[in-house]
Amino acid sequence: MARGLQKIQSQQRAQDKKGKEKGSQLAARKAGIKMSCPECKCEIANYKTLVQHMQAKHPSATIPPEPSS
Ligand SMILES: [Zn+2]
Repeated sequence: MARGLQKIQSQQRAQDKKGKEKGSQLAARKAGIKMSCPECKCEIANYKTLVQHMQAKHPSATIPPEPSS
């Protein structure tokens, strides 16, 4: 009886393509975010959201006046 040794070669393909999302600020700018909280520098989409954010997060802080675009 003949013994046959079969060597199975398995090719492993290591695909290391990780798409890191760089520049979240850029994406935020694309989304239309143009304001930031004067207290915590958090990015705010619009003035209405800023007012809500100020009331929720910084109730003691003065809400800035609405910018005239
Ligand atoms: Zn804030």
